[in-house]
Amino acid sequence: MSVVGVFGGVFSLITTYMMNIKNGQLIPMSLAVGILIILIYLANARHMLNLAAVMLCTLMGLFLLPSMFLSGGGIYSGMPLWFLLVIVFESILIEGKLKYFICSLSLILYSGLIYFAYVHPEFLTYFENDAMVFMDVGQSLVFVGVCVVSIISFELYMYSIALKKAETAAKEAERAKEDAQRANAAKSVFLASMSHEIRTPMGVILSMNEMIQRESNQESVLDYSKDVSASATSLLSIINDILDFSKIESGKMNIIENEYDLRAILDDIADIARVKKEETGLNFEMKVDPNLPRKVFGDDLRIKQCLLNLISNAFKYTQRGQVIFEVNGVKNNENVQISFAVTDTGIGIKPEERDKLFSSFERLDETKNKNIQGTGLGLNITNRLLNLMGSKLEVDSTYGKGSCFHFTVSQKIIDDTLIFETHKDREDKKTISSTFKAPGANVLVVDDSKLNIKVFCSLLKNSEMNIDTALSGSEAVGAVRDKKYDIIFLDHMMPEMDGEETLDKLKEENILNETPVIMLTANALVGMKEHFIEAGFTDYLSKPIEYKLLEEMLIKYLNK
Ligand code: ADP
Repeated sequence: MSVVGVFGGVFSLITTYMMNIKNGQLIPMSLAVGILIILIYLANARHMLNLAAVMLCTLMGLFLLPSMFLSGGGIYSGMPLWFLLVIVFESILIEGKLKYFICSLSLILYSGLIYFAYVHPEFLTYFENDAMVFMDVGQSLVFVGVCVVSIISFELYMYSIALKKAETAAKEAERAKEDAQRANAAKSVFLASMSHEIRTPMGVILSMNEMIQRESNQESVLDYSKDVSASATSLLSIINDILDFSKIESGKMNIIENEYDLRAILDDIADIARVKKEETGLNFEMKVDPNLPRKVFGDDLRIKQCLLNLISNAFKYTQRGQVIFEVNGVKNNENVQISFAVTDTGIGIKPEERDKLFSSFERLDETKNKNIQGTGLGLNITNRLLNLMGSKLEVDSTYGKGSCFHFTVSQKIIDDTLIFETHKDREDKKTISSTFKAPGANVLVVDDSKLNIKVFCSLLKNSEMNIDTALSGSEAVGAVRDKKYDIIFLDHMMPEMDGEETLDKLKEENILNETPVIMLTANALVGMKEHFIEAGFTDYLSKPIEYKLLEEMLIKYLNK
């Protein structure tokens, strides 16, 4: 705009001079062009754009043009057109509130000047003749017209550039979003296969190790095997933590509710806590409200996971004293509010570190705790699981004295029988039992890994069952055609025909005759349980196979 101004000004100067228009404008016009050149210099070379704009508008608009109006013909000249151009200039160049101030000032000034020219024509200098008036109006019209067209074209051009940039940015954002979604999907696939790939060999390690513990009499071998078991279990728990964490992060963690036996969870926790009690020499006490109902509706697996996290922390971060696990319930109509609290006499938590407690990968008191194993994920996962169940983890702690972690969940009551009504003391129950027997029961186990089949058969070798094996889906179909089985264990991932396809084939040939089919899977991802049940499996057992769960499953489905 300023460049157009300079060219226009010079053009006006030349025509005024050449045509010998005597309107006393030569000096003010030269001054205007001079000021414009200085301001262009300030704005571009000195980067003082705003100052230059304000100076341009005030100097030209408020001083130079009024004086040119008075000395150059008033309204009998092209000056009113210039007034208009200046106001357009001001509205584009000046920013913020100052724009409205200066534009209003100019409007008032120019209207005042026109009124003044009407009332006091004697103070104005006019052109000598009409030809000059027409000349001046003509050249002003051309110049102001060119300026206005340039300004509007330029603004439209800038607008189209901004529009194109915005379109490109939007396209890029869309592409970035697609990339992120693809990466996230790839992460899920990676996690699913990692879960499968790692859990399978871990299962073999744990099961084989269990066989060593059962069969070896050698003290030193048993000692080594105990260490293998401890390390493998802790590795498995780290893998599980990382998988859980990734699942929660990617929003794929679902709460799966079903009917469950509250006493069974508490018994399991008591078993695990007693092992920890023996390992650490700490005192462990469990106080359970006898008025709690026995069967409720909720996600027992996740509640157990939260409780085990808290209890394992309590044992980890307590050197002497005791760990107390309390469970209380308040019934209201159909629901029971169950409060769980784990209290320890351990190291406690500094008030200033309380905020870091639930952050992922954060551990407190690092120097003091450097010998204690942990990833800093447990409490984060626990709290987020509780959030998914509409609860939250709360902590009361005194540094150096101990901590109490507690939470409350609301569960629907399914069976109001009191929790201890048929309670048997499980204190003497051995961790590894192999007393289960089902003489003559026909079992088929299908897995493409010979090692997995070996593990499965070894776990059940004292059960007196007839265990047939098949290394593929088609082999399994052949076996079922020839013999009636009481239960079939079918691996998920197999080459050629996988577990689901094999089940479909068995159903298609109508040779199952109500035989329960249990899916064996290392794929621990969420939603799988419903998926397998929907696919027609009776139940599923996750690998690495825990002997206790396998036994429970056999008791459940072989009972008749
Ligand atoms: P970690 O795997 O490190 O145990 P958690 O998320 O379970 O991770 O716990 C985070 C941190 O909170 C721990 O590193 C520890 O410093 C602190 N903490 C957890 N439980 C207790 C407790 N019962 N007493 C004292 N500090 C605890």
